[in-house]
Amino acid sequence: MRHFAVVGSGPAGFYTAEALEKAYGDGARIDILDRYPVPYGLIRFGVAPDHQSLKAVSKRYDKVAESAGVDFIGNVAVGRDVSVAELLDLYDAVILAVGAPHDRKLGIPGEDLPGVVGSAEFVGWYNGHPDFADLDPPLNGSHAAVVGNGNVALDCARILSKTRAEFEGSDIVGHALDALDHSAIRTVTLLGRRGPHQIAMTPKELGELGHLEAAVPVIETVDFPPVEADEPLEPGLRKSVSLLRGFADLDADKDKRIVFDFFAKPVAIEGDGKVERIIVERTVLDEKGGARGTGETYTVPASLIITAIGYSTAPIADVPFEGGKFVNNGGRIGDRLFAVGWARRGPTGTIGTNRPDGYEVADQVVAGIPAGSSGDRSGAAGLKALLQGRGVMPTDYDDWRKIEETETGRARPGSPREKFVRVEHWLQTLGR
Ligand code: NAP
Repeated sequence: MRHFAVVGSGPAGFYTAEALEKAYGDGARIDILDRYPVPYGLIRFGVAPDHQSLKAVSKRYDKVAESAGVDFIGNVAVGRDVSVAELLDLYDAVILAVGAPHDRKLGIPGEDLPGVVGSAEFVGWYNGHPDFADLDPPLNGSHAAVVGNGNVALDCARILSKTRAEFEGSDIVGHALDALDHSAIRTVTLLGRRGPHQIAMTPKELGELGHLEAAVPVIETVDFPPVEADEPLEPGLRKSVSLLRGFADLDADKDKRIVFDFFAKPVAIEGDGKVERIIVERTVLDEKGGARGTGETYTVPASLIITAIGYSTAPIADVPFEGGKFVNNGGRIGDRLFAVGWARRGPTGTIGTNRPDGYEVADQVVAGIPAGSSGDRSGAAGLKALLQGRGVMPTDYDDWRKIEETETGRARPGSPREKFVRVEHWLQTLGR
């Protein structure tokens, strides 16, 4: 029997487990570890609560977790409860699928003022991530700014702009729904350091902004190149740019505005004890398509600033780390140690991108440890003994089912679940 540990139960972890299970059949046991008693990682804590169809991919992951060779071992933090070196003693291979949960920093003065939050924090807050349940973002001013022109920036702007009724059917956590319902924010400025042709927003997500009940997206047509210049763009981007152009024709008579401010590079954040404004430098595109400052600056008022400029992986002791992810060669970090998903390639791509990624890394595992070969490592049995000695109580998929049932049972009418937002509440559900 071979034993594999996949660390992280988000999309990358589940697709890798699925691939390993297919490759080794009943010749291997695959344990998916997570630091929380609940699975799904990015699907639960990252994907927007009003995008339930995307979250439904978890049903596929349930099938993986229920297959004979796969187990979920929750409530175990690698690096805290058990080291990577210990896992390598217990398992034939260890695959780190820990995602990229940390916000990249802007690196400008004033970034640490109260009221400046990273998108991981803000998204975690409305998605019930225990680390951010107490974030309490300031929603009492009339202006917010979101830095970045990717899909996460869009998620943040949309969540800030929706009415309570528009969250029906979502699983946004109650504390965030109530706070947003009382929000005074009327203008959300989306700051892009480059132009409309350089956005990283996809058409479906962008299109949603045009159909909001109380908010309207606003663009300045002068920011756009002539329409013929859209022709050579790849189809997805061309569609996004065309949607953006269409925002100029929308009825602007709504309570809230989402203002696209292009060629706007943040240079400083200011305020008296808390954020009040962001100073922005006008840019032009340089010859390589990058943002070059023109020296002209202006002020955007904001009592909440969300930076949505990408994520980095959390380092783990003794695992080589550089540029926000683990140092790896096609997924291989070192002898029997691998990285997959965002921990391998950085925070890019859709949920589905992690499937080929997971299968590719599984192929690498198989190349070093052929299917059908035998080993003598102890896997889960050894891990559980070690954890018991440390007073760590792991959870399994049946435990998750109990938590899920309780969360479903306490849902608002029309909502799929009301998540618990604290580790101790999950554990209390299990009678611990
Ligand atoms: P992203 O797509 O990489 O976008 C990051 C944005 O931040 C870019 O516009 C980038 O501009 C900007 N940026 C980076 N550094 C900056 C700086 N110092 N100052 C100002 N702007 C800066 O990242 P993301 O939005 O976090 O998304 C991560 C991944 O998740 C993406 O692959 C995304 O598509 C995916 N995602 C998908 C969905 C969905 O499908 N519904 C939802 C959310 C996220 P430059 O281009 O100029 O660098």
